[in-house]
Amino acid sequence: MNARVLYISQRHQRVSVAAQRGRRARFLRTLDNLRVPSLIAPKAQLRVAFAAAEAAPFAKVGGLADVAGSLPQALARLGCEVTLYVPLHGTIDRAKSGIPAAGAERSVSYGASHVRVAYPSIERDGVRVVFVANKRVGRDKVYGAPDDAKRYAFFCRSVAAAIEDEPADIVHAHDWHAALLVPMIGRRVATIFTIHNLAYQGKTSAEILAPVGLVKTRISVEKPGECNPMARAIARADIVSTVSPGYAKEILTPEFGEGLEGLLQQRKADVRGIVNGIDTEFFDPATDPHIAANYSAEDRRGKAQCKAALQTEGGLRVDAETPVLGVIGRLVEQKGIDLLTAVAPDLLEGGAQLVVLGSGDPAYEERWRKLRERYPSRLFLTLGFDAALAQRIYAGCDLFLMPSRFEPCGLGQLISLRYGTIPVVRAVGGLADTVRDVDEDPRAGNGFSFRQYDRAAFSGALARALRAFRRDGDLWNELRGRAMHEDHSWTASAKQYLDMYRLAHKRHRE
Ligand code: ADP
Repeated sequence: MNARVLYISQRHQRVSVAAQRGRRARFLRTLDNLRVPSLIAPKAQLRVAFAAAEAAPFAKVGGLADVAGSLPQALARLGCEVTLYVPLHGTIDRAKSGIPAAGAERSVSYGASHVRVAYPSIERDGVRVVFVANKRVGRDKVYGAPDDAKRYAFFCRSVAAAIEDEPADIVHAHDWHAALLVPMIGRRVATIFTIHNLAYQGKTSAEILAPVGLVKTRISVEKPGECNPMARAIARADIVSTVSPGYAKEILTPEFGEGLEGLLQQRKADVRGIVNGIDTEFFDPATDPHIAANYSAEDRRGKAQCKAALQTEGGLRVDAETPVLGVIGRLVEQKGIDLLTAVAPDLLEGGAQLVVLGSGDPAYEERWRKLRERYPSRLFLTLGFDAALAQRIYAGCDLFLMPSRFEPCGLGQLISLRYGTIPVVRAVGGLADTVRDVDEDPRAGNGFSFRQYDRAAFSGALARALRAFRRDGDLWNELRGRAMHEDHSWTASAKQYLDMYRLAHKRHRE
């Protein structure tokens, strides 16, 4: 049988990913024995090993989880064979996620000793999700343990050990937590490193390197005795990508480069920007089980019920005419929390209602508590993380605010567009790539934006948005419909990732 027939017959069998994997391995071994690997190479599925610290729905802190929880599925739909490696965090509900008690086990070297690591796995929508289970890795918080640098280095070591047994064509590491996987893999496999946020580089002591088998040799941006995992991955990966074309350009400059702009300039030819998508099945107002009434782009009547339900839940006056403005995210400088805090009293005095969900800088949390005391019937404040409430806010608001100082991509604006909630954003990074000001472009605009990072510019954009909301119901409805009709699924971006994988794989083989 020739390779093509074998390949087609293999593809057409409806088998589980695991069975398919075993069969494919046996098939490739047969071809290897026959010394005809070149026959299969162009048609074989790309095997992608994806490594990230968080992935929805298992563990989520921010946008990285959304990406790691949905891009692999989109790649699988394009024919990639994806294995996603994530730590088995203590917060992951094993029973709810169907994670088996047992799984493959390996003895992973760590310094002079060997550590037993378990790798229980499940299949989710065509993707094999492998949880790295060991107490050095899994804690009760995704981030914020004093030894984060060490534990994520060991996570990378454990993933590298698994990839030795289950080879991949592409190793795709995300953010600093998975960054050391890139030098660990070295030149054996094509590597892609994706920056989701350059502000978090994982800088630590170079002492963490030797136990995980890496050399201490310093790279140019590191101080003596320092290890910068993100910089090491940027220096070594075959291709460096980030999560929007805008941010890919910005990080080459001192304003956004976080001290790594020089290194990124050196890698400029290999730096790409691919805008994030969202899981449009999960974030779908037509089927969302967490919201008061379902609605769609064609029939948006349910949105008014969602607004009334959110006003009731937050103790706000139930009134369709009152604009409700939402904020969901980390209450930190990056997200423009200083601008939000500065404009909030004016907004509330001006008759708007604000719904804020997030946590972060304790000083800002305290200021928002004070605002709630002052405006109990106009501000619905929740300090914490609540995924279901987030969905009720996306559905129930009229406007969604993201005045970020910098924004690699931003998902809040994409989710709010999907729910017909109009974003007001600072035109920076991925926000500039995805939100077009409707006053600048009345036919194709989908939101409101401002450029200068200051209170006056933000207030100006908010005033325009509120005027549009209050002025003309038909135009507002049209804007809402246009926002909901936009396609922010992974379809287009996953294809760009696949092209990037093919390029890296080809270059690597050459
Ligand atoms: P980040 O920089 O934090 O990754 P993104 O906009 O890329 O910001 O993604 C944030 C994701 O996390 C979105 O899905 C958002 O809805 C969600 N999120 C952020 N904060 C909270 C919170 N407090 N509760 C629920 N979901 C949240």
